[in-house]
Amino acid sequence: MNCPNCGKTDNKVIDSRLSKDEVVIRRRRECLLCSGRFTTYESIEELVLPLLIK
Ligand SMILES: [Zn+2]
Repeated sequence: MNCPNCGKTDNKVIDSRLSKDEVVIRRRRECLLCSGRFTTYESIEELVLPLLIK
Protein backbone atom coordinates (compact mmCIF):
# COMPACT_ATOMS: atom_id res chain seq x y z
CA MET A 1 0.00 0.00 0.00
CA ASN A 2 1.56 3.24 -1.10
CA CYS A 3 1.43 6.35 1.01
CA PRO A 4 -0.78 8.92 -0.74
CA ASN A 5 1.48 11.63 0.55
CA CYS A 6 4.98 10.48 -0.46
CA GLY A 7 4.24 7.36 -2.50
CA LYS A 8 6.40 5.04 -0.40
CA THR A 9 5.27 1.66 0.86
CA ASP A 10 6.92 1.77 4.28
CA ASN A 11 3.98 2.12 6.60
CA LYS A 12 2.50 0.41 9.61
CA VAL A 13 -1.05 -0.42 10.64
CA ILE A 14 -2.07 1.54 13.71
CA ASP A 15 -5.69 0.42 13.84
CA SER A 16 -7.94 -2.04 12.05
CA ARG A 17 -11.56 -2.92 12.36
CA LEU A 18 -14.37 -4.53 10.47
CA SER A 19 -16.90 -2.37 8.79
CA LYS A 20 -20.52 -2.72 9.79
CA ASP A 21 -21.29 -5.19 7.05
CA GLU A 22 -18.21 -7.25 8.01
CA VAL A 23 -17.09 -7.49 4.43
CA VAL A 24 -14.39 -4.87 4.41
CA ILE A 25 -11.61 -4.28 6.92
CA ARG A 26 -10.76 -0.65 7.51
CA ARG A 27 -7.12 -0.06 8.40
CA ARG A 28 -5.56 3.07 9.69
CA ARG A 29 -1.98 3.29 8.50
CA GLU A 30 0.87 5.60 9.30
CA CYS A 31 3.72 6.23 6.91
CA LEU A 32 7.14 5.60 8.45
CA LEU A 33 8.80 8.16 6.22
CA CYS A 34 6.57 11.22 6.27
CA SER A 35 4.33 10.27 9.23
CA GLY A 36 1.30 10.81 7.02
CA ARG A 37 -1.76 8.89 8.08
CA PHE A 38 -4.28 7.33 5.74
CA THR A 39 -6.99 4.72 5.70
CA THR A 40 -7.22 1.63 3.55
CA TYR A 41 -10.13 -0.70 2.93
CA GLU A 42 -9.42 -4.36 2.35
CA SER A 43 -11.81 -7.09 1.38
CA ILE A 44 -11.87 -10.20 3.54
CA GLU A 45 -11.91 -12.33 0.42
CA GLU A 46 -8.51 -11.01 -0.56
CA LEU A 47 -6.79 -11.82 2.70
CA VAL A 48 -3.94 -14.27 2.22
CA LEU A 49 -3.08 -15.00 5.83
CA PRO A 50 -5.05 -17.85 7.37
CA LEU A 51 -7.50 -16.91 10.06
CA LEU A 52 -7.52 -18.78 13.34
CA ILE A 53 -11.08 -19.86 14.04
CA LYS A 54 -11.80 -20.70 17.65
ZN1 LIG B 1 4.53 9.01 3.32
